[in-house]
Amino acid sequence: MPKPLDPATKKQLAARVNYYRDMGIYDFYRRPVDGESAAAIEAVETDSEPPQSPLPVIQDKPAALRTIREDIGDCTRCRLHQGRKNIVFGVGSVNADLMFVGEGPGADEDEQGEPFVGRAGQLLNNMISAMGLRREDVYIANVVKCRPPGNRTPEKDECDTCSPFLMRQIAVIRPKVIVALGAVAAKNLLAMNDSMANLRGRWYDFRGAKLAVTYHPAYLLRDPRQKKETWKDLQMVMKYLGLKAPAKEPQE
Ligand code: SF4
Repeated sequence: MPKPLDPATKKQLAARVNYYRDMGIYDFYRRPVDGESAAAIEAVETDSEPPQSPLPVIQDKPAALRTIREDIGDCTRCRLHQGRKNIVFGVGSVNADLMFVGEGPGADEDEQGEPFVGRAGQLLNNMISAMGLRREDVYIANVVKCRPPGNRTPEKDECDTCSPFLMRQIAVIRPKVIVALGAVAAKNLLAMNDSMANLRGRWYDFRGAKLAVTYHPAYLLRDPRQKKETWKDLQMVMKYLGLKAPAKEPQE
């Protein structure tokens, strides 16, 4: 018969479990444990309050993000670690109402360790400015945090391995709106397999946030004709967030 836990240890364990729940982690992989420890964990989980909302409020967001980054560590969980120079975690305001999610880092991002800093990043910056915001007002991250070789599309198993970190980032930032940039981000966030034409142009509910899908800036560089459609998607987001496009500079 396992010994009951003393109140102090029980409180500490409950705080730990609740802390992870606040980070959006509900599933744990356990090493085999002896009967006493297993009973202790079970007691804590039974006593802990179930999460009340899909996106719990995190008080110290910078600390929570640091914890996620520490958990990623010098990650070798998928094969994408083999060619990377830098893990590209995410950047922006921890209090952002708007979060952009892309596919994965390219060469410039891998070099600098920051998402969307190359040509596609410049276009994303222009899109953000057109919405009346600055890059530092939003949060930007990718589904995979290491550059796929030759900028290939990340494989499903790579996305599945890495995306829990993104989900935890979303749980910390708690944006009002998420914009999925491109099919890879959309399919991973929504677990739907459909064409971009069908995925974009409407709202989805995503863990307490609204989610919209639009074209990836890298795609727009290849096919600028889709910029008009992208602007329609961004206007939908602006309307929801009460944003106004900045007035145009007077022409000389
Ligand atoms: Fe780890 Fe993600 Fe990089 Fe894969 S892509 S090695 S899971 S950080």
